[in-house]
Amino acid sequence: MTSLKPILDGSCTQCPRLARFLAEVRAQRPEYFARPVPPFGDARAGLLVVGLAPGMHGANRTGRPFTGDFAGILLYATLHKFGFASHGGSDDPRDGLRLKGCRVTNAVKCLPPDNKPEGAEVRRCNPFLAAELEAIRPCAVLALGAIAHQAVLLACGAKPRAFPFAHHAVHTLPGVSRTGHGRAFRLFDSYHCSRYNTQTRRLTTAMFEAVFRDINAYLSSAR
Ligand code: SF4
Repeated sequence: MTSLKPILDGSCTQCPRLARFLAEVRAQRPEYFARPVPPFGDARAGLLVVGLAPGMHGANRTGRPFTGDFAGILLYATLHKFGFASHGGSDDPRDGLRLKGCRVTNAVKCLPPDNKPEGAEVRRCNPFLAAELEAIRPCAVLALGAIAHQAVLLACGAKPRAFPFAHHAVHTLPGVSRTGHGRAFRLFDSYHCSRYNTQTRRLTTAMFEAVFRDINAYLSSAR
């Protein structure tokens, strides 16, 4: 890891497959954002939510994570219910939505074909996630799905075997630091709030809210 912090500026094309795909999307749908999607929310957040990657007609279209498609419905409704969001919907980046004590990002910043980033793409994008963790120094991180979970571990240099992913699992991680003074945080796992997972009831509202209750309790105790 270099001492220079990587800055996501929207022009990154380090992943050739994803850069080609985004160029195709821009040609076919010039109204779409179709660039690396930056994080959204409070820059001094106690909670960082990490998703997988932008969805074609959601973040990839609107330029804001989990905005404009089904995946954001349960996430932002729950963030609002637990006091992290000014309102519960997230259809359009011009909707005035504000996050309080929370930031939302993705493990991979560019839209992958079929919503499936390759391992090399997750690794290549990981310095951006590591830089976010190091800058925000959150108390709690919510990983939505196994790939987001693994990306958070990678950013911290933590061994996957020591911290297996499971819905509603909780881990304590040492934090990210190039200087050796990283802030430890609690990692909470959840199944991803995708249309597939919610419509098949692999992830129900009650299951998701139970994770948030634990996050809120932890953040309250850590204050
Ligand atoms: S996925 Fe990340 S590293 Fe790859 S091109 Fe997009 S922003 Fe760059």
